[in-house]
Amino acid sequence: MIQIMQDKDMFSDNSNDEKGHITALAPYSVSKNSRRKNLRKAKSGRAALSNPANRFSHYASDYDAQAKNNKTQILTETTKQIVTKNNSPDIGFKKSINPYRGCEHGCIYCYARPNHAYMDLSSGLDFETQIFAKKNAAERLRAQFSKPNYKAETICIGTATDAYQPIEDECQITREILEVFLEFNHPVSITTKSSRILKDLDILRQLAQKNLIHVTMSITTLDSSLARIMEPRACTPQKRLDAIKTLSASAIPVSISLSPVIPAINDYEMEAILEAASIHGATCAHYIILRLPLDVKQLFSEWLAMHFPDRARHVLSILKSMHGEKLYDATFGTRMKGTGPYAKMLQNRFNRATKKFSLKKNSPLLSTQYFVPPVPSQTQLDLFEDITKTTLQDIQPEYTSSIAA
Ligand code: SF4
Repeated sequence: MIQIMQDKDMFSDNSNDEKGHITALAPYSVSKNSRRKNLRKAKSGRAALSNPANRFSHYASDYDAQAKNNKTQILTETTKQIVTKNNSPDIGFKKSINPYRGCEHGCIYCYARPNHAYMDLSSGLDFETQIFAKKNAAERLRAQFSKPNYKAETICIGTATDAYQPIEDECQITREILEVFLEFNHPVSITTKSSRILKDLDILRQLAQKNLIHVTMSITTLDSSLARIMEPRACTPQKRLDAIKTLSASAIPVSISLSPVIPAINDYEMEAILEAASIHGATCAHYIILRLPLDVKQLFSEWLAMHFPDRARHVLSILKSMHGEKLYDATFGTRMKGTGPYAKMLQNRFNRATKKFSLKKNSPLLSTQYFVPPVPSQTQLDLFEDITKTTLQDIQPEYTSSIAA
């Protein structure tokens, strides 16, 4: 028996019958007016079709009013700590830097969207338009590297938001950070969806000479029309492939990240993407299945219903089959690859394809042996000696007299 659900329940996690089987969901149906309105939104170069209230303040800004302006706003943030530590057992890095908060690329599936709630903003349109630039990032990084007993280990840039999103042209924060990495000979790994990274090729080349750099290019589709609606302001898949080629030709090791794999949307492209990346010079590969934490469930579901009404039910149904009948399960160890037959099939396909196209699964280990902590300059030492002498001379008479007394 097919259980027809109300629209509001369409994407809920509770679409199981009493026996726990996944039940069929109602087909998406929107009025002509809503569809026309949504189409207008889709043409705005933004992926989110709403601006849900954030989970802390329940404030929702007016999507339509904001979309009318449709401009990206750069806001300045001063940060105390630029390096973030991560202890998740299923993530391959311990330290990361995100020069920006929010991302203009606006990928609809982006798991970083809910972080905008910490700025009292929505994970919807706000995330794509209200971008915070951490202007003092390079200064904070230099301070961190200069700490006594600092121990170098690879730091990943762009793990939550893209370090080469369009405002980097204006702000240049990522470039400033890379200059600090180079100054200290510190290993760094960058993940991006942008060919804008090539603007820093001069620095990346120098880092590569000492095995201090690794780049991961994220490619989710080779179909530019799918990319346009799914990742509206990221550069085209072809540009990303060309960037892999240029980086690789400059002796900079490049991996390909096929993340996220979305069932019935881009999963059929897995082999083609891996082959193209390999041909262009990528040497390693990994993938993560679609993850829908918090508000991303709603945003992705709206987008899916808008652009793929014919298969929205199917996509979500497969997704649930990989997450223990839920749209998202955050359990460590299974959240990235999922469980069940569909997840297993993806894994098998990935294993076969990486073997066929000679792609390794682990990124190369970067070197920490060249890290050089700063030595105080002679001028600073002279200054320090002068201050010490002056202070001692100044306090000496008092000290003597107090003993005498
Ligand atoms: S490029 Fe990365 S950080 Fe930016 S929206 Fe897409 S997934 Fe999120």
